[in-house]
Amino acid sequence: MANVIEQLLVLQTCDQEIRRLRKEMEDIPLRRQQIEARLNAHQEGLAQAERELLEARSRIKHLEGEIDSAREQIKKYRDQQLQIKSNDGYKALEKEVAVTQAAIRKLEDQELAAMEVVEAATAMAGQRRESLAGEQKQVDEEVKALLARGEDVGGELARQEDERKAVAAGIDPVWLRRYERIFAKQRDAAIARVEHGTCGSCHMKLSPAQIVDARKTDTLTLCDFCGRMLYLAS
Ligand SMILES: [Zn+2]
Repeated sequence: MANVIEQLLVLQTCDQEIRRLRKEMEDIPLRRQQIEARLNAHQEGLAQAERELLEARSRIKHLEGEIDSAREQIKKYRDQQLQIKSNDGYKALEKEVAVTQAAIRKLEDQELAAMEVVEAATAMAGQRRESLAGEQKQVDEEVKALLARGEDVGGELARQEDERKAVAAGIDPVWLRRYERIFAKQRDAAIARVEHGTCGSCHMKLSPAQIVDARKTDTLTLCDFCGRMLYLAS
């Protein structure tokens, strides 16, 4: 029984490591999500550029259709002019032709502008595709490293759990249960060292009687303030 605190300290080191490794394992899916989320902005940027490209192309198609029908209209005016007898009628058609030609020039200007948009959007989409591919490569590497780390952590966890089992097997079951109850409640440790008359965990000043008790290794002394098991290093 003399070294039960020492045994428990070894066990606690295992338990702390197991706790840390389990937390790391649990965090892996979230960390993976965070890494992969970096692709979102790149994917959205590319989709936006592709949308702009599509819109500009369909605008060009639409303008070309309008230009074609305006040219058809001019042809009809010319045919009508061949058949018309009156000078006024001829002039009126000539005016219509001029108006339609002006409309065509306007449409052609719009088409030119749309072609410039296509050119810019094509370049932009190319850039976005490139930066997405670059980010994808980095993300893939980071995810791969993270999954490899997960495997290492899994192996280390299994080793620690085996070691813990071996250490726990040598400890008095009554002390073991007490320790386990306290460890489950505390975030860091179940056992606190008495340091300069205070609890090493919660740093509250202990009574002289508690300090005397903490020296005994065959009884259990708990900190009045935080409930951890106290021990005094000899
Ligand atoms: Zn305490």
